[in-house]
Amino acid sequence: MKINALDELNFNNRFVRELPADLEIKNECRQVLKACYSSVLPTPVRQPKTVAVAKEVADLLDLDESIFESEDFAQVFAGNRLAKGMEAYATCYGGHQFGEWAGQLGDGRAINLGEVVNHKKQYWTLQLKGAGKTPYSRRSDGLAVLRSSVREFICSEAMHHLGVPTTRALSLVLTGEHVLRDMFYDGNPQHEQGAIVCRVAPSFTRFGHFQIFAARNDFDLLKQFVDFTIRTDFPELGEPSTAVYLDWFTEVCKRTAEMIVHWQRVGFVHGVMNTDNMSILGLTIDYGPYGWLENFDLNWTPNTTDAQMGRYRFGRQPRIAGWNLAQLANAIIPLIKQIKPLQVILDEHYTQNFQNLWSTMMADKLGFTEVQDEDDALFSDLIELLQAVETDMTIFFRQLTKVDMSQPNFDISPLENAYYSTEQVDEIYKKSRFEWLKRYQQRLQASQISEIDRCQRMNATNPIYVPRNYLLQLAIDAAEQGDFSEIHNLLAVFRSPYDERMDLQKYAAKRPDWAKERAGCSMLSCSS
Ligand code: AMP
Ligand code: MG
Repeated sequence: MKINALDELNFNNRFVRELPADLEIKNECRQVLKACYSSVLPTPVRQPKTVAVAKEVADLLDLDESIFESEDFAQVFAGNRLAKGMEAYATCYGGHQFGEWAGQLGDGRAINLGEVVNHKKQYWTLQLKGAGKTPYSRRSDGLAVLRSSVREFICSEAMHHLGVPTTRALSLVLTGEHVLRDMFYDGNPQHEQGAIVCRVAPSFTRFGHFQIFAARNDFDLLKQFVDFTIRTDFPELGEPSTAVYLDWFTEVCKRTAEMIVHWQRVGFVHGVMNTDNMSILGLTIDYGPYGWLENFDLNWTPNTTDAQMGRYRFGRQPRIAGWNLAQLANAIIPLIKQIKPLQVILDEHYTQNFQNLWSTMMADKLGFTEVQDEDDALFSDLIELLQAVETDMTIFFRQLTKVDMSQPNFDISPLENAYYSTEQVDEIYKKSRFEWLKRYQQRLQASQISEIDRCQRMNATNPIYVPRNYLLQLAIDAAEQGDFSEIHNLLAVFRSPYDERMDLQKYAAKRPDWAKERAGCSMLSCSS
């Protein structure tokens, strides 16, 4: 049964009902103590206009397609009207930003609308990003601009179709308002079009939600929030107890390890892995200055704010996630009253587990059925090879299936397309590439892996279409001129990121030269 009026959505708002609310009702920036959230209405906007809707996400909410075009849809998902059952609130959290404790942060430009229960009894929290100020907005406006909203909308859906755990995006709506942004932090603010994305996830709980109560020594609220999270987001673990707290931390470690392995597999660099941007459900959350690897480079980060330190660079993501989990562990020590079990879990279920998952992922990328002892050297030598000259990671792995490894004298020409500079592909490089491919071939032969099996496994692991930074920028350039067709095209392309289609060749192309230094394509700031 599909719903064709938003007032028919079925809400059960556990977060606001079961957790303590901020008693102050004024929408002013402040420290919010002894509360998990503040009730706050979205700021009304002048002229809402729906730009795009992800029908797969509408399906999760049982929404019928017929309402996407309606005026009411735009009004509700721009925050101008609360549909029946919606309750608007911003939550309180803290976090470590770039390694430093930052105190209270909170939903500064996100306003939750409540929890939809669909016909399968699944819970989906709706959240508007960019719907105006809340008590957590600090010195900012609570708004979001079109370019960053396009990036969040397309990438979160692309990630889902790539098989990466992520928050989802239902809609992208223009507000008809102008928002002032200094994109390069160089004293040249410009008016940009305002936009709102409606994000959807089972919950938006972050590591920082637990950290803030621990930092304030509010252990009652810490316990209440942990218990609530276990009951609502992890009901399979059973009723909260000390043992269940440890099971819960184990589960968070496992899910985080899986998420990061996926990021490394597809070449996604989050850019701002602060603890407030880490989902307790192991979902990719908060798409800001993220980027996609073009040439494989463990040291690359798209975030200009982090260019110097490179704290969140590609090759560091696994270690940083471990550091973030350690901060979560610190926050819940008061509930467990021992440190050792948390350390053991972190080591086993994050650090070691990550290593195993990473090896399995690399084996899949190369088409092996399992990991063997000698494979580690093969993997690390490949990583060195990929970095030796500028090599497009996505293209390299797809083209590797086109090198016929059953032939004693395999033809490597399909790989040529993966390089950014043919000059770099010198004799020394060619020699090490040949040696690596020979070892790869021996490994395939020893395991009797057929070419068909190899290619099937590889093409199910290595996407051909990913939201390359320049593709998004082209869609943004057009959208800023009022042409939204490329947003719809990208949404369609990324629905099937593993299936090669001849008519979509241009979406698999490597970064063109013009995009190398262009803002938005290779360098992104946090201004959004
Ligand atoms: P982020 O780095 O985007 O994850 O944001 C860090 C913190 O800043 C969070 O508490 C956000 O809610 C807040 N924030 C980011 N942008 C804005 C904005 N334009 N207005 C208000 N708060 C913001
Ligand atoms: Mg954030």
